[in-house]
Amino acid sequence: MATSMNGRALSRARNQALRPRIAALPRPPGLAVVLVGEDPASQVYVGRKARVAGRLGLHHQQHDLPADTPEVDLLALIDGLNADPAIDGILVQVPLPAHLDRQRVLDRIDPAKDVDGFHPWNMGLLAQGRPRFVACTPKGVMELLAEYRVPLQGKRAVVVGRSTIVGRPVSLLLDAANATVTVCHSRTVDLEARVREADIVVVAVGKPDAVLAAWIKPGAAVIDVGVNRLDDGSLVGDVGAGPELEAAAWITPVPGGVGPMTIAMLMANTVESAEGRLQG
Ligand code: NAP
Repeated sequence: MATSMNGRALSRARNQALRPRIAALPRPPGLAVVLVGEDPASQVYVGRKARVAGRLGLHHQQHDLPADTPEVDLLALIDGLNADPAIDGILVQVPLPAHLDRQRVLDRIDPAKDVDGFHPWNMGLLAQGRPRFVACTPKGVMELLAEYRVPLQGKRAVVVGRSTIVGRPVSLLLDAANATVTVCHSRTVDLEARVREADIVVVAVGKPDAVLAAWIKPGAAVIDVGVNRLDDGSLVGDVGAGPELEAAAWITPVPGGVGPMTIAMLMANTVESAEGRLQG
């Protein structure tokens, strides 16, 4: 029977481990979260981040801007946060409303406060194998793999999805851990054959059943990053259900797998940023 990788428990443990580090700082780490518009899923995610930041005693600011905020105003807010000595981490929640140029907005964040790890500076460092701030979801995936001692070196890893937020950085991290990595995407021919070869499968597509249970190699680790809300209100991942999943060695539940780890890694990046600023 596959081991369920418990992201809730691991995120709690990781958050607990931050407490003495936070207590050792001369002031609380500062996290600023910017939300533009009223996307319901984004509101939920931002709310969860605020709750965890509050529980850990971080200095937390939330900036809720109307959906029609001009880009120049958003950039001015980011400039102010970049210059604010009480702020160690800045997160602009994506997706952004269509009139805003996402790349221009994210590029404006000071790379030294880019706790989401999306700035080209931090992505470039990751690509060079000397990471600084690593994007939170990919970092959380690697923490889960490490916690459950999933062997990576020399193993075949297949990452389905190549977004800047998840797929691309996960593939770089798995490569850095000496897995042999194949990145698949919407134009991949015969995705099933690629997945069937994989010892580790990371799926970050955003579509239910993007990968079917029958494709999973017995003994594989299955990391399902996808979060999809069905018409009946339930949440499912990107990997279809099926008895074949029982033959996997490890699997992440949705919800309760990767999601909580993302938030814990945001807290970790913020504390790390504050330590760098305050302790040198
Ligand atoms: P995204 O930017 O839309 O990227 C999706 C990727 O999947 C793209 O690379 C796309 O290929 C690929 N793709 C689309 N259809 C495919 C198919 N049929 N077969 C194979 N590949 C396909 O999405 P994202 O931001 O990476 O998010 C992916 C999922 O993860 C979403 O459900 C999101 O909600 C979830 N997510 C969860 C967390 C968490 O904390 N749990 C965090 C972030 C995201 P192309 O590049 O060719 O278009």
